[in-house]
Amino acid sequence: MIYAVMRRIISQEIPKVVVNSDKYQWNPLNNKVFENGKEITAEAEPDTRYIKYLNVFKALYNSDKYYPELNTYIKRSFEGEREVSYDDVEKTFNEFLSSPQVKEVAELIKKRLGRNLEPFDIWYTGFKSRINTNEEELDKITKEKYPTPEAFERDIKNILLKLGFSDSDAQYISEKIQVDPARGSGHAFGSAMRKFKSHLRTRIGKDGMNYKGYNIAVHELGHNVEQTLTLYKIDHYSLFGVPNTAFTEAMAFLFQSRDLELLGIKNDDPQAKYLSALDNFWNTYEIMGVSLVDMKVWKWLYKNPDATPKELKAAVIASANEVWNKYYADIFGVKDQPIFAIYSHMIDNALYLPNYALGYLIEFQIEDYMKDKVIGPEMMRMCASGNIIPQQWMKNAVGSEISIKPMLKAVDEALIQVK
Ligand SMILES: [Zn+2]
Repeated sequence: MIYAVMRRIISQEIPKVVVNSDKYQWNPLNNKVFENGKEITAEAEPDTRYIKYLNVFKALYNSDKYYPELNTYIKRSFEGEREVSYDDVEKTFNEFLSSPQVKEVAELIKKRLGRNLEPFDIWYTGFKSRINTNEEELDKITKEKYPTPEAFERDIKNILLKLGFSDSDAQYISEKIQVDPARGSGHAFGSAMRKFKSHLRTRIGKDGMNYKGYNIAVHELGHNVEQTLTLYKIDHYSLFGVPNTAFTEAMAFLFQSRDLELLGIKNDDPQAKYLSALDNFWNTYEIMGVSLVDMKVWKWLYKNPDATPKELKAAVIASANEVWNKYYADIFGVKDQPIFAIYSHMIDNALYLPNYALGYLIEFQIEDYMKDKVIGPEMMRMCASGNIIPQQWMKNAVGSEISIKPMLKAVDEALIQVK
């Protein structure tokens, strides 16, 4: 039923009167509306979603003339911000989506579910590995260990030592990170000047830091360490930072995925790493389709800058169906499912979605490279490159450019191990 609602959002067919109202009953499958048990005729919501989309396009399109070189938003987004070309990104996604592993993983999911796949199984979460310790016990451990922000700050050096940083590096980095209480879930705010510290904001309740807060704090600490190293250890200030957000997220996830280890708890599930490889693969398979829809629509917009919201809606649905039919229809046994157009990122954050897909690949490559190495010294070395172009950063870091190969290789191994 949720899937049907999502499709109605994409087609903007939700009856206007049922939005934010408890006066009516609505059946999303046949789109009928009832008031006091009697069917009524109801007008569909307007194409607001596509009006917003078009407005964002127009604002960016109208600024093209101020950019002599990167004179389309597509170029500014790919060659400018991401520093990887549209064609290279598209080629990488095509290769991944056409890989034979897709069919094999889909067969495995079918077996685990005991039924044929439905389109919404694109969001299958059954590859998450579960640990034995329950969350209440974990809460107890973290609350005791970290009753205040100061307690977490004092432990940073110790955490870094556990991750293999040398005593002097751990001391050097931990002195430059300050922990503050947060109202939200947590955040890492880097410094842009060497005389200031980076800030780790973390939520700590009256009775201490719960496990969820701790898990996020460890993620943020990964960002803070990256922020410190890419400010202090680079050759020139103009190299400050990492190539793009995917790289700092990779560092944050390296830390976060070791959060239990840092508490002295071992994940003794021998399947854990295989499940995680399959989970990564399936998530990437999904988000690459979503990204391609976004990319195709932007190409269409540049060919049709005077489109109406209705025409844009038709183009979005056509692009989404095209991507689905090319890479997903055979796997799921059904054609014309425009579901990848559901992401609101497409509407309010122009061409951001490909960052997630590239981010998954980058993270996987770095994590894969780290599996037989010590994080501390490797992270010191990687971060010292600073904000150079992504492909060169990756070559320095793991010895090859951004590639789908490590993930596919890990999936091949996992398919032998996971039944
Ligand atoms: Zn993050």
